Amino acid sequence: MSAVPLHPVAAAPALPVWMAAQTAPPPLASRRHRRVVQAVDGVHLTVDGRRLLGFCSNDYLGLAGDPALSDAAIRGIGRWGVGAGASHLISGHTSAHQAVEDHAARWLGCERALLFSSGYLANLAVITALADRGTAIFADRLNHACLNDGARLSGARLKRYPHGDLLALRRLLEADASPKKWVLTDAVFSMDGDLAPLAELLSLCHEFDAMLLVDDAHGFGVLGDGRGSLAELGLVGAEGLDPRVVVMVTLGKAAGVAGALVCGAAPVIEALVQGARSYVYTTAAPPALAEAVLAALLRLADADCTMRRARVLAHARRLRSFAAGGLAIAPIVPILLGSDARAVSVAEALLARGLWVPAIRPPTVPAGTARLRVSLSAAHTTEQVDQLIDALKELQIDG
Ligand SMILES: *Cc1c(COP(=O)(O)O)cnc(C)c1O
Repeated sequence: MSAVPLHPVAAAPALPVWMAAQTAPPPLASRRHRRVVQAVDGVHLTVDGRRLLGFCSNDYLGLAGDPALSDAAIRGIGRWGVGAGASHLISGHTSAHQAVEDHAARWLGCERALLFSSGYLANLAVITALADRGTAIFADRLNHACLNDGARLSGARLKRYPHGDLLALRRLLEADASPKKWVLTDAVFSMDGDLAPLAELLSLCHEFDAMLLVDDAHGFGVLGDGRGSLAELGLVGAEGLDPRVVVMVTLGKAAGVAGALVCGAAPVIEALVQGARSYVYTTAAPPALAEAVLAALLRLADADCTMRRARVLAHARRLRSFAAGGLAIAPIVPILLGSDARAVSVAEALLARGLWVPAIRPPTVPAGTARLRVSLSAAHTTEQVDQLIDALKELQIDG
């Protein structure tokens, strides 16, 4: 065997010039950074040794720290160990995963439910497996990024309609000759907290023979006695969910764990198992996590969570009546501030008062609509909500 000659390195190792240019950091005003959370105690988070009151988490019901969930996870680790070890189609699909799917399908009124390890992967799976170059996708302009990513990846023609504009959507549907159509919408819009007109969207889908994908990341657990936005609007009848509707619910928000479920008609779900690349080519979520999810789903249907839902929605109404106007149907309250710099400076002023409220800037929201995004939780007390309102008053912010 001849030795492979070592090429001399001319200079100290460095990134290629083009990569150094490509990774140059954005200007300070638009740069994002992560804060290291050192401890979590209900709605309090410790950062840099300071205990902050958080209005930044999607743990709307305060279940993330719930003993029933952590007990289930710990028991699950005892039984299964930590990792699933393989993808669902190889050997990673356990009775713990299956129990979640069976329970969710019954509770949510669909033929079948499929468990994913994240909502992002779940949306990619539905759209890339069930839409292709011959499909037209109609999407609300304020939809979550992962719905748009799925649409792009699928190769379908993507047409975005102005937020909630049913007339514009109807015109687009009328003008499109494609026999294969999907309408994609958030149920509760993640940056505004408003509810999509799901009944009207569904009837348009009937009229134009389209399928409807509803992303209920923020309604699930909170609305419709915990079963989400479609139940809230009376769209899950005695016969269950309309087969032309596919619903994606995330399990890392109100459910307090991680992952997602896609619910729909049996043939649609089976097509995902057969062909969705972001389902097939990824390791199954840890079985212990599935045990925690099952505990969370049972918890969401109990009387204590009914009380928690009432409490978080009361908090949202209280803050909205001060800051944002409009009806509070979800625990997300936007406080529009306009420029990126203003949003950042108000968030920093709140932080100085011990309140952590995230500033959300473009491209997450449209240009000129930088804002504070207040997330409320049933774990907040009314006094804590008032503490935020008082701080906003001091800063002369009134929505
Ligand atoms: C959070 C979120 C997702 C992604 O869910 P993950 O489980 O966090 O990947 C998808 N859609 C919407 C509207 C969301 O808010």
